[in-house]
Amino acid sequence: MLIKPVFKVLDVLQVPRLLEFILNLLVNVTRLTAEELEAAGQVLGTNAIDYSAERVGEGRLLPLYFMINRDRATTLFHTILFPSKGRHARGRLDLFVHELVHVYQFEKVGSIYIWQAIMAQMGAGYRYGEVDGLEERRKEGQTFSGFNREQQGQVAQDYYHHVLEKDLAANSRERLAFQPFIEELQAGLL
Ligand SMILES: [Zn+2]
Repeated sequence: MLIKPVFKVLDVLQVPRLLEFILNLLVNVTRLTAEELEAAGQVLGTNAIDYSAERVGEGRLLPLYFMINRDRATTLFHTILFPSKGRHARGRLDLFVHELVHVYQFEKVGSIYIWQAIMAQMGAGYRYGEVDGLEERRKEGQTFSGFNREQQGQVAQDYYHHVLEKDLAANSRERLAFQPFIEELQAGLL
């Protein structure tokens, strides 16, 4: 397929950097909060991404964008865009973790992650079958990289929401089901 080389050329030409520079002029950008950093470290690991280079974008021109995409958080390269209202407004750490996985995807595979995420949204979507699905897929030999780009975000989000926030025991079925996939995420195998 031609798609991959096209994104590769964009990456080599540093187009994402340029777009991100422009984007950061058009929205309010802030660094990650202490809470966000902590959540990031718990799921992705403290060294997965250069968190000091991460930005959260809000306001300014974004209400226009969020009118079109109906207030759904979006990650463009290293900038996570949150709407000012609705379920995706900044402050939900599980959603933040989901978006951060997209940043990690960008770091690992380049801007093609955007295409792959859109394809995922139009295809199998976000769901992976929860704990049953994780167990079944593991039995079949699937790894974290076998999930589509949205499922990857969702697995990390659900791990934060259902395991870490609830502080489930180390030997709980739920935690054990997530564990191998989260270890692969932390190892950057996506
Ligand atoms: Zn996503």
